[in-house]
Amino acid sequence: MISFNQVIIDTSALAHNYRYLSGKVGEGVKFMAMVKSDAYGHSMIESARVFEQNGCTSFGVAELSEGVELRESGCNGDILVFVGFDYRDSEYLLSHNLTPVIFNHEDLAHISDTAARFEKKLPIYLKFDCGMSRLGFYSADAPELFKKCESQHIDVTGIISHFPCSDDKSSNHSEQAYQLFSSITQTQGIQATLEQSICNSGGILYFPETHADLVRAGISLYGYYPDGAEGRTADSENGLLPAMKCSTRVIQVKKIEAGRGVSYGHTFVAERETQLAILPIGYSDGYFRSLSNLGEVLIRGRRAPIRGRICMNMCMVDITDIAGVAVGDEVILLGTQGEDRIDADDIANWVDTISYEVLCSLGNNNKRYMK
Ligand SMILES: *Cc1c(COP(=O)(O)O)cnc(C)c1O
Repeated sequence: MISFNQVIIDTSALAHNYRYLSGKVGEGVKFMAMVKSDAYGHSMIESARVFEQNGCTSFGVAELSEGVELRESGCNGDILVFVGFDYRDSEYLLSHNLTPVIFNHEDLAHISDTAARFEKKLPIYLKFDCGMSRLGFYSADAPELFKKCESQHIDVTGIISHFPCSDDKSSNHSEQAYQLFSSITQTQGIQATLEQSICNSGGILYFPETHADLVRAGISLYGYYPDGAEGRTADSENGLLPAMKCSTRVIQVKKIEAGRGVSYGHTFVAERETQLAILPIGYSDGYFRSLSNLGEVLIRGRRAPIRGRICMNMCMVDITDIAGVAVGDEVILLGTQGEDRIDADDIANWVDTISYEVLCSLGNNNKRYMK
C-alpha cells in the first residue's frame, strides 16, 4: 500500500557523511556508526549496510533487540549494546556476538556468570561517568571494578564515556571530562592499552584532541551538526549532507471566508478570505502538534504556513499566496523543493527542540524508502 506520507533516505548522503567524518579522524582511530533508534529514523539495517559498504566495522545500538536484528541482517562488524539488557535475554549476547557496555556491578556479575555457564569469553566495555550524570561507574570505582573483571570469562576490551557539552565549542568541559577519562588507564593495575572512547559528533567535529581510539558518530552521519544551524553556518566546507526528506500530498483545497476559525479550538481565525490546503499528516505521523500555527511546509517551491492546530492525521496550511495549488501536489515538510529548503534544524527551532528529535519522530512514524 502507498502512504501519502513518505520519508526518503538519500543513501549517497549517508555514504558521503561517513567518508567525510571518517576522514576527520586519524588513521589509527576506529569509527563507530551509532545506529540506535532505527538510525535516528533513517532505517537501521539499510543505513548500517551503507556505512559498512563504505568501510565501517563498528556499530552502536541502544537495546539488545536492535543488536540482534542488526546481526541477523548480515552485519559483520562489532556491535555494541549501550543501554543494558534484560537478564532473560543475555544469552543473545553470546549467540549473536554482541558486546555489552557495562555500567553497573549487577550486570557485570550477571554477565560473568552467563559467560562462565556457556564456557565462553565475552568481550565487554566499561562505561564511566565523567560528568554526564547518566550511565556509568565513577573513575574512583576503577581499581575495584577492574579487580572484579579479572575473570577468565570476561575480556575488558575498552572503556567508554560520554561528553555532555561537546556541541559547545566554547565550553571547557570536554577537555576536563577527557582529562578525567584518560586518568582511568593511568590507575595502578589497569592496562594502559585498553581501548578508549569518549567522542560523539561534537567531540569528533570540535574537540579533535579527544578522539582517542574510537569515535562514535550519530547525528553527523545523518547530515546534521550537534549545535544545529549554527554548526552548519560555521562549517566553511559545509561538509554534512542531510539525508532525510519527508513529503506528503495535498488531499483537498478549499476557500474559507474572513472570520472563519480553523481546526480544533479555532486557534487560527482567518483575517481575510483564505485558501487552505488540507494535508494528510499529523502528530501520529511524527509531525509535532506543537508546530500548530508555527511550522511551514513547501508547496510549488513556496512556503505555506500551518494554520490552526495540527490534528492526529491531518493539518491545514495557508496557500492564499501560492497560485495554482491542486489536489495531488507534492508537499515537502523536510527537504528541498524548488529553490527553498526546510531542514530538521528549522523545524527544531520552531518548537524548541533539536534535529535529533525531529528526525526520530518523522523517520520512525512514516513509511521509508531508501534512494
Ligand atoms: C547517541 C550516542 C552517541 C552519538 O551522539 P551524537 O551526538 O548523535 O553524535 C555517542 N555515544 C553514545 C553513548 C550515544 O548514546
